[in-house]
Amino acid sequence: MTEHDVFDRLFQVMERYRNTQNDGPVVAYHSPAALREKLALGRADRPQSYDALFDWVETYLEYAVKTGHKQFWNRMWADANLPAMIGEIISTIAHTSACTFESAPVSTEMEKYLIDEFLSLAGFHNGEGQMTTGSSNGNLVAMMAARNLVMQTAKRDGLFGSPPLVAFVNAEAHYSMDKAANLLGIGTDNLIKIAVDDHGRMRLDALEQAILDARNAGKIPFFIGATAATTVRGAYDPVGDICALRDHLGLDLWVHVDGAWGGTVFLSEELSDQYLSGLDQADSFTFDFHKMHGIPMVCNFLLINNRAGILQATVNSGNDDYIFRGEDNERPADLGATSLQCGRHVDILKLFLSWKFYGRAGFVARIERFLEKAAYAEAVVRKTPELAMLVPRESFNINFVHSAPNGMDADDLNRAIRQRLYESGTAMVGLGTIKGQVSIRLLIANEAVENTDIDEFFQHVLDAGKAIIDAAATA
Ligand SMILES: *Cc1c(COP(=O)(O)O)cnc(C)c1O
Repeated sequence: MTEHDVFDRLFQVMERYRNTQNDGPVVAYHSPAALREKLALGRADRPQSYDALFDWVETYLEYAVKTGHKQFWNRMWADANLPAMIGEIISTIAHTSACTFESAPVSTEMEKYLIDEFLSLAGFHNGEGQMTTGSSNGNLVAMMAARNLVMQTAKRDGLFGSPPLVAFVNAEAHYSMDKAANLLGIGTDNLIKIAVDDHGRMRLDALEQAILDARNAGKIPFFIGATAATTVRGAYDPVGDICALRDHLGLDLWVHVDGAWGGTVFLSEELSDQYLSGLDQADSFTFDFHKMHGIPMVCNFLLINNRAGILQATVNSGNDDYIFRGEDNERPADLGATSLQCGRHVDILKLFLSWKFYGRAGFVARIERFLEKAAYAEAVVRKTPELAMLVPRESFNINFVHSAPNGMDADDLNRAIRQRLYESGTAMVGLGTIKGQVSIRLLIANEAVENTDIDEFFQHVLDAGKAIIDAAATA
């Protein structure tokens, strides 16, 4: 095969996959052991054979989960969008690391351009930012900057002999906060989970009490992690009120906003007022474009408010003279200097192309569409006798349950429905646990999804529920 033939074949495979991703099941489900047997990964190599290589490609796609399938509701991402896909492919062809201007000049300028755009839309002044490998990493870097700011000796001396630092998050915050507390030497017990109200938002009175308790115990409260929106419930912590509490307490508390899932509502003034009022008072903010915006994994930003240069001061360490070359006027030229990575995938091109193609208005319309579809799904649940919302909808997430007949455990039934849909490939949907009760968590992140697809999904749920209940009755 010539290189021309390889490209031809590649584009044929890609186009065919895209055009047929709604045909058949969401996944050809196999248990890990059965899949291992099918894949036969150890089968004899045919070195240098592109035919053999494309056989592997076909095998991969045959058993892959079709995240672009309209019955894929499982996770926070779904179908990748085409403009962004072009960016991803070109990034691969040009193959560089976005760590220095020298090796990635255009990508560096694009990244700075969009960081500035987002700083301004978030209402951040004298700020800075970086793309990270996701909000888990964004949360970690934010907590690290906050830690090293409040404990200026930490970067050099470590935390030996210093009083414990304490961070506060929503009881339903993402587990990456626990990981950050672990990695940064804070200790997971010093990550205090704040009780939530009926909407799943951090309770301000509980937050204030926890901060005062920590201080009275001789510890140093240093970080509040607000969430916008929480992973299971889709709840938005009241960022403005939290910042007001910080100001009222007069403590050196860093307020970070984890907007991995619902943070991009800040692109719309109206939605920002509704969900993220007071964001401009926060110290840092992270959000993903690889979730509901259909930008291929990974695509995330971390923004810092009011403290340009803090990442250089707190995150940058070690001897990196061999790679980083210094300043561009007043700003660091090299985005990698303050990153936790050395090599950095060019994540900006796919977003930049998508941004130019759809415009900010297109991104906002996408979010609004998902909110509308979520409202529709909630209405379907409410009018279906067998189904009920486990908790009211806060934003994008629909947590519902199928009712169980007497003598059957509702959690078991809902888990079984979800598993049956998955193994049959009819639909993939997630589970959530709220206050100890299992819900089916429906997330709509595919722009092609119509109300009829939502209807179809609930019909699958009802069919699966009936089959499981009937089987139990005859057993
Ligand atoms: C998904 C999610 C994360 C993790 O984001 P990644 O980009 O996958 O690292 C963090 N916080 C919240 C609230 C999330 O929903």
